Amino acid sequence: RTDKKGYEEAQKRLKMAEEDHKKILPELRKESRRNYLSKREAEKLEDLEAEIADEEYLFSTDALTERERKELEYKRNLRDLAKDYKKAGAKEKEERKNRYYMPEEKRSKDIPQRDMELELEMPMEGGGEQGRWEEERLKTASLIFGAKKEREKGLKAEREKYQLILEEDEMINFVSSAVIMKGTQDEKQEQAALSQAEVQKQSIQEVRRSLPVFPYREDLLLAIQQHQILVIEGETGSGKTTQIPQFLMESGYNDGGMKIGCTQPRRVAAMSVAARVAQEVGVKLGNEVGYSIRFEDCTSERTVLKYMTDGMLLREFLTEPDLASYSVVIIDEAHERTLHTDILFGLIKDIARFRPDLKVLVASATLDTERFSCFFDDAPVFRIPGRRFPVDIFYTKAPEADYLEACVVSVLQIHVTQPPGDCLVFLTGQEEIETCCELLQERCRRLGSKISELLVLPIYANLPSDMQAKIFSPTPPGSRKVVVATNIAETSLTIDGIIYVIDPGFCKQKSYNARTGMESLIVTPCSRASANQRAGRAGRVAAGKCFRLYTAWAFKHEMEESTVPEIQRTNLGNVVLLLKSLGINDLIHFDFMDPPPHETLVLALEQLYALGALNHLGELTKVTYCSEEVLTIAAMLSVNNSIFYRPKDKVVHADNARQNFVVPGGDHMVLLNVYTQWLESGYSTQWCYENFIQFRSMKRARDVREQLEGLMDRIEVEVCSSGGDIVPIRKAVTAGYFYHTARLSKGGYKTVKHQQTVYVHPNSSLFEEQPRWLIYHELVFTTKEFMRQVIEIDSSWLLEVAPHYYKNKE
Ligand code: ADP
Ligand code: MG
Repeated sequence: RTDKKGYEEAQKRLKMAEEDHKKILPELRKESRRNYLSKREAEKLEDLEAEIADEEYLFSTDALTERERKELEYKRNLRDLAKDYKKAGAKEKEERKNRYYMPEEKRSKDIPQRDMELELEMPMEGGGEQGRWEEERLKTASLIFGAKKEREKGLKAEREKYQLILEEDEMINFVSSAVIMKGTQDEKQEQAALSQAEVQKQSIQEVRRSLPVFPYREDLLLAIQQHQILVIEGETGSGKTTQIPQFLMESGYNDGGMKIGCTQPRRVAAMSVAARVAQEVGVKLGNEVGYSIRFEDCTSERTVLKYMTDGMLLREFLTEPDLASYSVVIIDEAHERTLHTDILFGLIKDIARFRPDLKVLVASATLDTERFSCFFDDAPVFRIPGRRFPVDIFYTKAPEADYLEACVVSVLQIHVTQPPGDCLVFLTGQEEIETCCELLQERCRRLGSKISELLVLPIYANLPSDMQAKIFSPTPPGSRKVVVATNIAETSLTIDGIIYVIDPGFCKQKSYNARTGMESLIVTPCSRASANQRAGRAGRVAAGKCFRLYTAWAFKHEMEESTVPEIQRTNLGNVVLLLKSLGINDLIHFDFMDPPPHETLVLALEQLYALGALNHLGELTKVTYCSEEVLTIAAMLSVNNSIFYRPKDKVVHADNARQNFVVPGGDHMVLLNVYTQWLESGYSTQWCYENFIQFRSMKRARDVREQLEGLMDRIEVEVCSSGGDIVPIRKAVTAGYFYHTARLSKGGYKTVKHQQTVYVHPNSSLFEEQPRWLIYHELVFTTKEFMRQVIEIDSSWLLEVAPHYYKNKE
């Protein structure tokens, strides 16, 4: 790094910059109109800043030699000069922009018309057609923004010009649909809708009383008393999740220390709702009211109301098959039809027969409730009349090429053109959400004081909980909140104050191909039912608007009516194991609300048999051997794809760091190496930071590992080490994944099972090596069918570890 050439180069650059700087500064001060800092120079500054930051980070000042210190000093000077340089340039740019964006500003009168047109033709930042379109839209919005003031001044010509732009559908490029979601409030009530500020002023108890479920408290309690199983249907936000358990607590369902359990399909919802209810009840979270999600048990001896993920309640069946400690079980968000919820339906229906004292509530948004009633032997449905205001729905005239960009633009358009009210954007995952938030923040910074404050808040499952809580805090007066969320905000979480919803019409869904055994998370168009739920979020506190970033035609013809239950599109291996461990051997006759495809079930059984997890009678077998290393690998694989961190500004460093972990054998061995080194560092955060490893993922891997170790301990399986020999480790992976074998052939790999052409993922440590035989952990389809996490094997092992499977093949 500190070679002579680099040093001389730096000196040269410094000298040049110094000279340039001297020459240029006075001119800049004279408010010259040329842009002095070209894009290339700006990039140079970024490189320089990254270099300095790295050096400052990597070496403490005392560790540097005299020359290195001097060099660093030079670089700093150079950076400072370049910064000044850039600042001057930016100021210049900013001024030009100001004049452009705010034509009514007094200075603008001096700007000749020609000048403005010139500006218009400048290549737009962000580039490309989309970028240009976006800038175009933004400008329109800003012009209108300024135009109001113009009108006040009574400039007739100006007014006419801008009024044209103000035509709403022209400007937004959305078309209003004939379909307007009907509200249930009459006009008078609509006017009486509480303003946000008023809502904020209400005390918690007042809020509780104002929820739609409140007037039905007594009726509901009576219905619960009279029926063992009750289906409860109510609009999102009516108080099902937060209020009903409290009603039950208040009327003695906890007598004798009995618990009320309430399941949620999502971790975030379980945590957030529990926190809210603890606050309403006035207890510390984890005492009387708590939650339980995988790896996080926030309950205690005193807990009588327990929110949990549906997966956690399933686990409880292992230790308490009749849920004896519960007096009420609420299966909430039933309409989501997650895999775990569907299995719970079958199990709970079964135990309800021999536990007549157990109350079962199935709570759902206004979807599909007849089916729940039907499944639970015609259980009555209790409908909580909704409180909903009308929502106007707008579609785009043409499909959007880039929905992320379209979201950003729509938010800004709403912000500058629409009356107060918060905004909710639906995206499909963390990465998209983060990008969208960054883009929005960047845009707002650039618009500066020309727009009022826009609070951009993300919400997704992996967001730290203090950040999650932020979405619920009231919006300060004069500003607007925009929440960028995953599906979680569709029905699980209610955010008050939302008036505008932006719906690109996509969601991330697990899909499973029983034939190829390929399970993948893919972004797909959401269902019409989902889209309508999303739109409904705009009409909770007042009449709202929903902007759909797709055409009305697409809504009618390209979207499914409703979402396919998860059980129909998943690998059932884990489900089978779980049910078997609960003693349910006859899966073919298990009471599923929607039985999974027969083919998938048989395949899962076949695989488990081949793995030796089930014997020829279909019973669980006992595992007798497990190694330390394999435990680690399994834990690391369970958090895979989120271990290596690759910040945009340090791509090269991150890639180098990653390369340093490469060891022979394949990606599994690399993961093992990462974990081992982390362990040796004493599970250090600093170590992670230095090696571009995500600490959170590692911590999670450690949790998973501990849990696995605990399980091994419980069933008395000895955990030993292979003592540095990598062959047994790779054999063990082969034994577990022999049906994921691929063999090198012309133009890529072919899977042994289906002769499907697949490729090694470019991220893999074996990407260049391309060994003859591989085992892959998973197949993902992005631009091609890729194998992610691959390990090199010897084909003879296949016969050794899975003779029952391979002896007939080839
Ligand atoms: P439902 O389950 O019927 O969709 P909830 O019980 O989740 O409704 O929500 C009822 C109301 O409770 C919401 O309208 C909102 O005002 C309030 N609420 C729920 N969760 C929170 C929270 N974490 N922070 C603040 N308010 C909340
Ligand atoms: Mg709810």
